Amino acid sequence: MRNVCIFYTDGNRLREITARYPACETVRLRGGPDRALFAERETQSIVFVARNEELQGLAAACRGLSFASVAVYPTDVGYAPREPIGIDISKPRLDYMETELCHVCNLNCKGCCDYSNLHVDTGFYDFDNFVKDLNRMKELFWGIAKIRLMGGEPLMNPRIADYAEKCREIFPDSDLRIVSNGLLLPKIPTDTLERIRDCGCSFDISNYPPSRKNKKEIVAAAERSGVPIKFGVPMNRFLRTILERPTDDPAPAFRNCLFTHCHMMGNGKLAPCSYAYCAYRFNARFGTDYPEDDLLELSDPSLDGWKIVKAFSEPHKYCVCCGRGALPYRWRGHVGPDQAKKEDWLIPDTALSRTVAPVIQKALKPAAVRLRALIQKKK
Ligand code: SF4
Ligand code: SF4
Repeated sequence: MRNVCIFYTDGNRLREITARYPACETVRLRGGPDRALFAERETQSIVFVARNEELQGLAAACRGLSFASVAVYPTDVGYAPREPIGIDISKPRLDYMETELCHVCNLNCKGCCDYSNLHVDTGFYDFDNFVKDLNRMKELFWGIAKIRLMGGEPLMNPRIADYAEKCREIFPDSDLRIVSNGLLLPKIPTDTLERIRDCGCSFDISNYPPSRKNKKEIVAAAERSGVPIKFGVPMNRFLRTILERPTDDPAPAFRNCLFTHCHMMGNGKLAPCSYAYCAYRFNARFGTDYPEDDLLELSDPSLDGWKIVKAFSEPHKYCVCCGRGALPYRWRGHVGPDQAKKEDWLIPDTALSRTVAPVIQKALKPAAVRLRALIQKKK
């Protein structure tokens, strides 16, 4: 029996990978993960060559079988990993994680979803703590399908390339993106952008009016260094997000939510979503007491990846005050800590917000899910 079996769904770069394993066997998977087929190769080393989004399912289908080793090779993460990535299939993979490299922003949008314009936190995610937290995430998960390095404005962090490179080193399987308003991109040294490009990281540009206005310069800077860049859908309106009077039941908001996958890592903690993560900033600035205790301590020795996946698949405390979708307003920049008001975020407790808005949210969810999938596909 040959020692290595390569299962693939995407033949892209297959020849290059098979060249590493003289006498390997290759099997094309046409109908998704096939546990019976995998079981026939028990005791062999196996490699999955597949699109990033398929890898979780392939790894899951092998669980409980005994292989000499399992490795993955994602074919669509914006760079070519040097070699197949060995994984531990006893752990889960996290589908998505975002993290904040800089706590302030050069745009100070009214109603910023991270409250960056309140300046409750200033400065950066300490690099050593960032590495420590990433390493802990790697103990808990075999990989993370998508990582977005965000802010505030992440390009205000002068060590941005160090963060991207370290992230790539620890999570070679990830689709790695920097999320920025893009305005500082033309001022970033070309060699920094080249380092970002070389570690297989790309830019997602949040498409606010000033970003649109400067699109030509932003795209030119990215093209000079060859770093991939995508502008998001134009954003001209923001939505208020916090119910002035929380509900009693977190389940309906969670069921209708499009952001349940937006897990956020920061300063030794992991939150089910960025809204739950950032709640303390709003409380600190306005003296409110919205729930802050949905965060998991990464240092907790009893934590494992499976517990996290389970906890994050259920409604959590902060969902009681999530009311996104009601009362949109026109985007406005340069609303700093002195100008920001809690009304920029708060949805007043009216009959409309209590009854009509949740119904609209529920009705719009299927269309929004389809739109999100379409946007993800285009990216
Ligand atoms: S661009 Fe606006 S919404 Fe985005 S982080 Fe900066 S202030 Fe917040
Ligand atoms: S708190 Fe709950 S409802 Fe709000 S964004 Fe997070 S997961 Fe969704």
